Amino acid sequence: MTVDVAIIGGGISGLATAYNLAGKGLDVVVLERQVHAGGNAISERIGEFLMEHGPSTVNAQSIDANDIAKRLELTAEQCALGAGVKNRYLVGKGALKGIPVHPLGFLWSNYLSLKGRLRLMTEFAVPRNKNKAEETIAEFAGRRFGKEFSAKVIDPLVAGIYAGRACELSVRAGFPKLYGLEQKYGSISLGLVQHHRQGAKNMPSSRLFSFKDGIGFLPKALADALGERVKTGVTVRRIKKTLHGFSIDTEDKSKLRARAIVVATQPHVAAELLEDVDVYSSHTASEIEAPPLAVVYFGFKRKDVEHPLDGLGFLAPESEKLSMSGSQFCSTMFPGRAPQDCVSMAGYFGGARAPELAQLPAADLTEIARREFKDLVGAKGEPVVSRVRHWPRGLPQYKIGHTDRVQTMLKANQRVPGLFLTGNYICGPSVAVCVDQAGKTAVNVANHLDAHVPSDMEQTQKAAM
Ligand SMILES: Cc1cc2nc3c(=O)[nH]c(=O)nc-3n(C[C@H](O)[C@H](O)[C@H](O)COP(=O)(O)OP(=O)(O)OC[C@H]3O[C@@H](n4cnc5c(N)ncnc54)[C@H](O)[C@@H]3O)c2cc1C
Repeated sequence: MTVDVAIIGGGISGLATAYNLAGKGLDVVVLERQVHAGGNAISERIGEFLMEHGPSTVNAQSIDANDIAKRLELTAEQCALGAGVKNRYLVGKGALKGIPVHPLGFLWSNYLSLKGRLRLMTEFAVPRNKNKAEETIAEFAGRRFGKEFSAKVIDPLVAGIYAGRACELSVRAGFPKLYGLEQKYGSISLGLVQHHRQGAKNMPSSRLFSFKDGIGFLPKALADALGERVKTGVTVRRIKKTLHGFSIDTEDKSKLRARAIVVATQPHVAAELLEDVDVYSSHTASEIEAPPLAVVYFGFKRKDVEHPLDGLGFLAPESEKLSMSGSQFCSTMFPGRAPQDCVSMAGYFGGARAPELAQLPAADLTEIARREFKDLVGAKGEPVVSRVRHWPRGLPQYKIGHTDRVQTMLKANQRVPGLFLTGNYICGPSVAVCVDQAGKTAVNVANHLDAHVPSDMEQTQKAAM
């Protein structure tokens, strides 16, 4: 079999790339090793509860994510954040501290000391960084906002977004918008004021959406739209460069030929598959770590939880020495996540902070999560539902040097014409960024194929295969 484009990996990135390419009239096939496409976007109905094993939100500001939902006619299935999301919670001195969802929320609350708040207010006066060395997020945040804000706000935020440590990740790669604001305006607060004036008024909490049946609905809709072009239960073992494209060997010994190839797997798989094709991409992808993660999900009777759960969830600074790095109040976030008289919540373990915790057996994780939820939100009694999901590879870590690594991988096509990489380790781990990046990848693939139209003889050979 010969196709225009073979896409390896049927997560959101691979499916969105395929959907865009199929929309351009190209002959595509997606090869996915699991029995279902979708990668880590898995939503499970447990009676009237809905557990998100992986992502639970999509950034509503993403033009591409909204556009793809529109093209798939999913807008009626989209749901906005519930009205109960009123606060953001951080853990301070072993208890939840509610911070109003407002740009000045940190100044009004006493989560930070008076000194920390005064320091935060002087951010506009901090000069641009003159040192050319790449900064970590912690260095950047400490320099601009003060050490307390960095340790008590940015550190847990990085754990929430990247399951990473602010002292290890690159600010340029991990928080490119914040980095860009300093570059452009010399200050984050002045930059944000400018953006606000230009109309970007939404708070982060109003910028998220999901689907009635959970995030898993998006890859399912993509896979349904692609139909026969998605082959599940197919593990790619080897890719070889041929004269006019690539040959792909799969575990079931079938062979596929493609004029172009998109590797949309996790970075460690990309590293293995590209060993014989592009040593630069292979080596670079192998440098990207994705420490293990675990999600512990509970449904409780509402009467058994003291806290109003009136927020997205909570995040915990590393200094709090909790096992959980954060939690989501699932039944508050979106409608239809729990029966009327119940609530649901998920706790996150592991990542770069404590990879060993994510490898604990399910029973141990359940016990720890119950203890910490009891202390923090007063969740007592037996949960109605309890589930654990282990992710042996969690989220990619955008460490120092990541921007250069990305450049190497995005230039794969220049070294090996027809080879493209896409995925959550390129420009951001969020579903929305994966969809955006998939759109760009599809354009690059289509441009490559336009510029390399097969000769009449190659067309004849393709038809004969
Ligand atoms: C616990 C958790 C919570 C998250 N929460 C959020 C959130 O709330 N919001 C948000 O925006 N993002 C969130 N994310 C991040 C987001 O879900 C991921 O970054 C995104 O889904 C990654 O999609 P992907 O297609 O790039 O990769 P993946 O989903 O990893 O897909 C890669 C695919 O490649 C397949 N594959 C691997 N090897 C082979 C092979 N040899 N042959 C064939 N197929 C292969 C895999 O089976 C997999 O399906 C979360 C992630 C996790 C793990």
